[in-house]
Parts: sequence; structure tokens; C-alpha cells
Amino acid sequence: MSTGRRPSGIVARTPPGALVILGQPVAQSLSPLFQNAALQASHPGVHYARREVAADDLDRVLAECRAANCGGNVTMPHKFAVCERASNRTETATRTGAVNTFWWEDGALFGHNTDVDGIVATVRALCPDGVRGDVVVLGAGGAAASVLVALESARRAGAGRTIVLARAPGRATALIARVAVDARVAANAGDIAWPRVGLVINATPVGMTPGDAVPLSTEWLSAHAAVFDLVYKREGTRWVQEARARGLLAEDGLRMLVEQGASAFETWFGVAAPRAEMWRALGEPMPPDLSVRR
Ligand code: NAP
Repeated sequence: MSTGRRPSGIVARTPPGALVILGQPVAQSLSPLFQNAALQASHPGVHYARREVAADDLDRVLAECRAANCGGNVTMPHKFAVCERASNRTETATRTGAVNTFWWEDGALFGHNTDVDGIVATVRALCPDGVRGDVVVLGAGGAAASVLVALESARRAGAGRTIVLARAPGRATALIARVAVDARVAANAGDIAWPRVGLVINATPVGMTPGDAVPLSTEWLSAHAAVFDLVYKREGTRWVQEARARGLLAEDGLRMLVEQGASAFETWFGVAAPRAEMWRALGEPMPPDLSVRR
């Protein structure tokens, strides 16, 4: 059951009558599974569907969504295109240039980015007393933009510097300027003072494909460093497994996925998301707020 009104945050004035995830590919998305479990518990008249959408079909599909008051989520490759099309964007959507959550008000498209909330929740779980030291972000794409925005709360809570380690340093420089955060770029792992690093976040797709290498050798990491892999796999990613084998705190992207979904749910309906139902649908125990999924 839903646990009451959400205390704060962005809430749609007109809740959607139907929900969908738009992407290509979208067949692998876990969102319909856990969102439908949440809807069953709290809004049984609303269904969450998945829809494979080619880039040149996006406008037609959005027009259909508008006519049906169908809101939802957006996954790759459409997060940027939907952000451009939204006539109303939240600050996180504007700063990241990406929309993963949308709805309609008086026929106007509203866009928000709740990936940032999922990242904040995971960083808090991994570092409940705040990040002690610098943070290294691997990658400079769309997810890295959300990570950089999310890390601002960690910085305010006392984290050290943010360093973006990317194979294309120019792209990292452009990303930092676009998102307007205080961060620096490293082109090589050897350029980083690893003993000062308290958290490393993988925002590359490395680890998604079976047989992939790890995004960064765990040999670089000190004993106090925590590891957050945005990639998720039911059996855990190889990078997370290697970090845990070294005794480090490490978590994959599943909590981020559920928390971005919970935040989207709260945006659409203005009530607390039934997280226990969401985790149950995934066959996973709900992690206690400030502990780490093992
Ligand atoms: P993206 O926009 O394509 O960016 C990927 C970044 O990774 C780029 O900077 C790219 O570098 C870099 N990269 C790609 N392959 C690499 C390699 N082999 N070695 C080093 N760097 C590499 O993708 P994205 O949207 O940011 O998503 C990244 C990953 O985040 C996804 O694959 C997904 O697993 C994860 N994600 C998880 C969640 C969640 O809820 N848990 C949500 C969103 C994303 P170049 O620019 O040089 O190509």
C-alpha cells in the first residue's frame, strides 16, 4: 500500500491515466515489472506498458501519449530528444539535458530527471556518514551528467573534489561546463591521487555485456574507497564482485533503478511510492535505508 502523501518534491498537477516507458531497445527494461507492482498496490486502474520507439517515430508516439494523458519514463536513446521537446523542464532535467520522467498538464509536456534521485539514494546508502575524500566518475556521457548533479549534495556534505576520468577528456571538459559543476578532468588513472579517493562511480556501459572487462582495475582503490556501478545485473556486476572480494563496500545500479522509479511514481501521483512492492516484484529484499545491498 502507498504510505501517504509525499512530503516534498515535484508533483504533477494532473496525474497520468496510463504509463509507458519509451526507448529502443526497451524489451530488457525492468521498469514495467516493478512499476506495475507498485500501481497494483496503490493505483490499480493505471497500467505501465513498454513501447519500442524509433527516433523518427518519437513525435508521433508523444502525440498519442498526449491524447491519452499517458505519462511515463524515457530511456536511451530518447532522453535528450524528450528533454528538447518538453515545454516545461525541472532544474535537474535542464542541467542534465535529459528527461527520464514525463507527464502532461493542459496538453503541455513536462519533463524531469529522477536518475539524479536514484544516484543520491545510492551514494547515501554507500556513504551514510558522507563521502570521505574525492569522488572519481568514470565516463562523460548522459549518466555522468546525472552523477555530477547528484554529487552536489555530497559536496555540500563534505566530500572532496570530483574528478571525471574519461577516455575522451575533451568530452569530459565539455560535460563539466554544460552541467556547471566544480570538477576536474583526468585522462589517465595514473593522474589521480587514489589514496584520497573515497568513492568511485562507473557511468560507462562497461560491464553490461558478458565478457566485458571491468571499467577500472580495483587495484587502484584504497581500502576505504566505496564503489558504485551504475550498471546492474541480476547476479551483480563483475566490478562490484571484484571490489567486494577486496573487502570494499560496493553496490550496482539496481537501487538507483528502483529509486529513480520510486521518485518518478511520486512525481506522477504525489504519494510515497510503495517501495516494498517494487523490490518484491524484482525478487529482492528491500534494502534498509542506510545499508548496502549484498
Ligand atoms: P552514454 O551517454 O553512451 O555514455 C557512456 C560513456 O561511457 C561515454 O563517456 C563513453 O565514452 C564511455 N564509454 C563507453 N564505452 C567505454 C569503454 N569501453 N571504456 C571507457 N569509456 C567508455 O551512456 P549513458 O546513458 O551515460 O549510460 C551509461 C551506463 O549507465 C549505461 O550503460 C547503463 O548501464 C548505466 N545506467 C544505469 C542506470 C540505472 O538506473 N542503474 C540509469 C542510467 C544509466 P565516449 O564518449 O568516448 O564514447
